[in-house]
Amino acid sequence: MGSTSETAPLLERKEEVRSNGASLNELTDLERGDAAANVGFGRVLSLAKPEAGKLIFATLALLVSSTSDILVSKFGGKIIDIVSGDAQTPEDKAKALEAVKNTILYIFLIVVVGSVSTALDDWLFSSASERVVARLRKRLFSHLISQEIAFFDVTRTGEIMSRLSEDTQIIKNAATTNLSQALNSLSIAFIGLVFMFWTSWKLTLLALAVVPATFIALRKFGWFLRDLSQKTQDAAAAAASIAEESFGAVRTVRSFAQEEYEISRYSKKVDETLKLGIKQAKVVGLFSGGIFAANTLSIIGVVIYGAYLTITDSMSSGDLTAFILYSLNVGVSISGLSGLYAIAMKAVGASRRVFHLLDRVSSMPMSGNKCPLGEQNGEVELDDVWFAYPSRPSHMVLKGITMKLRPGSKVALVGPSGGGKTTIANLIERFYDPTKGKILLNGVPLVEVLHEHLHKKISIVSQEPVLFNCSIEENIAYGFECKVNPADIENAAKMANAHEFVSKFTDKYQTHVGERGVRLSGGQKQRIAIARALLMDPNILLLDEATSALDAESEYLVQDAKERLMKGRTVLVIAHRLSTVKSADTVVVVSDGEIVESGTHEGLLSNNGVYSALVGRQLQTMKPRYPVSQFTRAT
Ligand code: ADP
Ligand code: MG
Repeated sequence: MGSTSETAPLLERKEEVRSNGASLNELTDLERGDAAANVGFGRVLSLAKPEAGKLIFATLALLVSSTSDILVSKFGGKIIDIVSGDAQTPEDKAKALEAVKNTILYIFLIVVVGSVSTALDDWLFSSASERVVARLRKRLFSHLISQEIAFFDVTRTGEIMSRLSEDTQIIKNAATTNLSQALNSLSIAFIGLVFMFWTSWKLTLLALAVVPATFIALRKFGWFLRDLSQKTQDAAAAAASIAEESFGAVRTVRSFAQEEYEISRYSKKVDETLKLGIKQAKVVGLFSGGIFAANTLSIIGVVIYGAYLTITDSMSSGDLTAFILYSLNVGVSISGLSGLYAIAMKAVGASRRVFHLLDRVSSMPMSGNKCPLGEQNGEVELDDVWFAYPSRPSHMVLKGITMKLRPGSKVALVGPSGGGKTTIANLIERFYDPTKGKILLNGVPLVEVLHEHLHKKISIVSQEPVLFNCSIEENIAYGFECKVNPADIENAAKMANAHEFVSKFTDKYQTHVGERGVRLSGGQKQRIAIARALLMDPNILLLDEATSALDAESEYLVQDAKERLMKGRTVLVIAHRLSTVKSADTVVVVSDGEIVESGTHEGLLSNNGVYSALVGRQLQTMKPRYPVSQFTRAT
């Protein structure tokens, strides 16, 4: 049977939703990157793959520049040899001078080649790294924006922000600039060591005596630092989250005079970051000091033993000079590497968190590709829908809701606050999938409906419409990829009773509304949202009536616009006003996740059940401004 083949994937999905419900609780831990995502160094490098050609060229340039570094030391030693070769006769002296001149010329050439290749290497590596971070950010953003709504119920925006801006920055540096520095240091160390061995293997072995100890210390230090920097990043993200929340709710903060509280909340988190940062600074300082001591001691050893070798004529003084210059170069490179190791460890933490997010698979299955609605009005059916929010899987919010919105009909949902009315609208919008049961659009399960089609055909106008920080025109035309005719926008605004107030603004439709629309009043925001829905021209409309009181004038204008919006569509309205309920074809009373009564307004009133009690009590208390006389007349 068709229905069983439809329910099978649905049941699977339900299991998925369930199991994800459990894992969602762990999400916050996961977001901290406690669970290791699959992060190899190769994976970080693979981000730079499209840049491979450039990076190879950059590496070649880098090898040239490292070789020139070492060669300068070699020719420096040569000059010392020429100078210390005791030239007695004027001819010898002239020869020596000539040789010095030639050597200087070589050095000059090497410096020119070295500078050009250093410039090339820096430029190529840095530009590649900028591309890598841009690519990573775009990928992360597009991955996150398509995650299911439940993900955003449990993930703090501040957390996402710090992944997107800070962690990607750290990874960018690690994958390119630091990698370039590391390669540079490594190649200088390697070429330097080759030259050192070539000059004197005995001295080289002496110089290398400190290496094993340094290596062990470096590993320990690296592990320690990795943990520490992970903790530091987490604390910083927590601080960012608090800042984000405080600024986002700045009006509430001000109205409760809680600035000091917010400051102390933020300061506490910043202090935690500070404590960890200071600890990190101490460790890094201690380690650098140790490396410096080891380096210096080894160079002093080299000088002493080298002096002995030179005095006993096993080595020329030019060779000794060159050797000391090599080992300085090598020493600087190796201590540079230890700093880079620290950065690399930080990058491991950052990439763990970023890749963890990138690997996250949305727990809502992708939508199908059916387009069950043509031009005709839509029908929506809820068939034994059970639902618990994934962030609170144990609490069943809807318990077996079955209802039908016939094409072109108007259904009003009423009931006590917290009963599940908004949740029903959320499910019809497919913000979440039912835990059990199904929702059908013209007979097709929502999951099989093409995502874009679904949201073109079903529009929601919510209690608190959220606008984007752009112009009124762009807000009304939101949802249209292509350019919308300004006349259409104006027309929609006229029908939504918005045109008049928009025309009074100096910038008219180009007026910017501010973040989330703060520069508009509640009634104005609602009318913009209605204009947006009118322009979208959906078959099915979900209306969540504002509970907050508007002034009489706005209320009238909003209501009038809504009437126009509802005309000729299938409407589900979450009603808080008696007039809305009265004009509905069917009234459905939802309480505690169940439909307790349904019928027409008159029919339900004569039943003397929950609804009539609600009308007598709650609908009134929700709108205390309504004169009781008017209300009684109405009933
Ligand atoms: P109504 O619109 O009827 O006032 P809602 O549908 O908004 O009620 O809420 C029904 C229940 O679901 C409430 O108990 C509420 O706490 C819970 N709820 C609403 N949204 C979420 C969410 N995002 N995560 C978890 N629980 C939620
Ligand atoms: Mg609600």
